[in-house]
Amino acid sequence: MPADDSSAPSARPCRVGILAIQGDVEAHASAVTRLGADVVRVLREKHLGDLDALILPGGESTTISKGIDRLGLREPLRVFADSGRPVLGTCAGAILISREARHHPVPTLGLMDLVALRNDYGTQVDSFASETDPGSGDFSGLRCVFIRAPRLVELGPDVEVLARVDGEPVLVRQGNRFACTFHPELTDDLRVHRLLVDAAG
Ligand code: GLN
Repeated sequence: MPADDSSAPSARPCRVGILAIQGDVEAHASAVTRLGADVVRVLREKHLGDLDALILPGGESTTISKGIDRLGLREPLRVFADSGRPVLGTCAGAILISREARHHPVPTLGLMDLVALRNDYGTQVDSFASETDPGSGDFSGLRCVFIRAPRLVELGPDVEVLARVDGEPVLVRQGNRFACTFHPELTDDLRVHRLLVDAAG
């Protein structure tokens, strides 16, 4: 065996799936890759099989929700989350992970006990970037990019707020399920993606 044998036993890299129907898939893929994890673009139920974690990306939640039904993924995505493996929904993904979406209702996956108010910060021209509030613990000083972002309201008792901007929850956790209303894939700060990978164990 050569001295520099790279096939020596080592932990298998974490495999992170990204729902690839529409939206900011490639920027998430690059963030996950920078953390040393493998990326799987999820378009079929079989892609969910050996994942360690899943990202529902930002984009257009109506389009993504329709795609979920077209591809027969609604139940498999719920089964995946029920297996306990971590799921992160970002922006449109936060809408899809919620128990209910309001303003422009869209069928959600109902994975987190919260309500998403779509486009509640305004339209595309009202998109903005802001830093998390100082009391946001491990996520203090995180630059957040908001693009037609939802606002998260009616958080259930099991939902923990990990970060706020101007007092509003922007990153929340319920067990192994995470939602953020901003786009963590659009900055170089990998804290949110690391949270997901760490939760995968
Ligand atoms: N406003 C979009 C929606 O409701 C989400 C925007 C985004 O993901 N950047 O689906």
